[in-house]
Amino acid sequence: MAAQPPPARPRIPGSGLAKGLAVTLRTMTRKSVTEQYPDVQPDLAPRTRGVIGLFEENCTVCMLCARECPDWCIYIDSHKETVPPAAPGGRERSRNVLDRFAIDFSLCMYCGICIEVCPFDALFWSPEFEYAETDIRDLTHERDKLREWMWTVPAPPALDPAAEEPKELAAARKTADKLAAEQAAEPGAGQAAETPAQQAAEPGAGQAAEPAAGQQAARPETEPAPKEGES
Ligand code: SF4
Ligand code: SF4
Repeated sequence: MAAQPPPARPRIPGSGLAKGLAVTLRTMTRKSVTEQYPDVQPDLAPRTRGVIGLFEENCTVCMLCARECPDWCIYIDSHKETVPPAAPGGRERSRNVLDRFAIDFSLCMYCGICIEVCPFDALFWSPEFEYAETDIRDLTHERDKLREWMWTVPAPPALDPAAEEPKELAAARKTADKLAAEQAAEPGAGQAAETPAQQAAEPGAGQAAEPAAGQQAARPETEPAPKEGES
């Protein structure tokens, strides 16, 4: 035998209206979360994925980003150039020169893989997001535009003061110290490094030097008369 449904509760007239008004009142007293954009700019997290900036000088045209992009929306063109040997008798080298670097943001899904895989720190996230276009073709940003986005990339967070010095910094410091030591050890290096201001400050420097033409012209024509007792 099928179970009998529970008996329906008696309806109080006007209870639906009271419930609706209660919801309205609750919502009215709650703090609004509406963003007043574009009158008020949103407060974004510093690492927001807005757009990708290209630091062209670091790009070696290795093509890793273009190969790893799941959407195939990075377009890179390059050509090879022969670099003459650095020292006589050395070998010529060839290097890639970037001709085109573009990202189609109408296809990009902002996964960040290209930035992660770039081995030379040439790509960065910028929190800028106001680059909507009326023509979808304008969403392909060429290298000049990608470079402009670099100005909006936030600075990296400061290093932990207790952290070990990065190896790049340590290597640069070591090279600078070595160069300074070499320059100091060179004979006459100290004299050569003397600035004109230091030379001018040396006692007698002005007397030893030949006076300038203007100074010679200003010298009196006649010598002053010798003082008494002088021969
Ligand atoms: S963020 Fe992802 S989809 Fe966009 S260009 Fe980079 S790899 Fe491609
Ligand atoms: S992975 Fe980096 S260095 Fe290589 S082509 Fe892309 S941006 Fe340039």
